[in-house]
Amino acid sequence: MPALRFLAVQPVRNGLGIVALKSFSSGALICEIDGAIVTSDEVWSFWSTDPRQAANCFRYDADRYISPQNKIGAFANHSCNPNVRVVKKSGRLFFRAIKSIAATTEITHDYSTLLGADDSWTMPCNCGEVPCRKKIRSFHELPTAILKRYLAIEAIPDFIRATR
Ligand SMILES: [Zn+2]
Repeated sequence: MPALRFLAVQPVRNGLGIVALKSFSSGALICEIDGAIVTSDEVWSFWSTDPRQAANCFRYDADRYISPQNKIGAFANHSCNPNVRVVKKSGRLFFRAIKSIAATTEITHDYSTLLGADDSWTMPCNCGEVPCRKKIRSFHELPTAILKRYLAIEAIPDFIRATR
């Protein structure tokens, strides 16, 4: 398990997840999502050899992904009502809080914010939030109101917005 101050990997609603051990204020950097940089072709090959690893990859740019392997990002779950967004700074990905987060709360992001228009991956959603979209798909298929809100808070990285 990754050793990180103020975060723990613990059982949550759907398997393991990242849980805050202290409160974070809105805008706080939560942690880096680090791992190995892999190509989109490698991610495709993971789908046949190691689908869990494929599903855990974070898009990094037009053609590359970060595979967190056993690092903290591998335990990051989706929510249709997320409390963090992914930001890229100096070539590294981080989670940043988009609301205040109380201790013991699970850290979640919206997977759709990292799915480009060229990503065909979808996943049924069982996040339990109201409203849950029921299906996770590319950012450009988000309901208009949600897309507008995410754009306003910069929750969709430039390299995702640039996809066609
Ligand atoms: Zn959901």
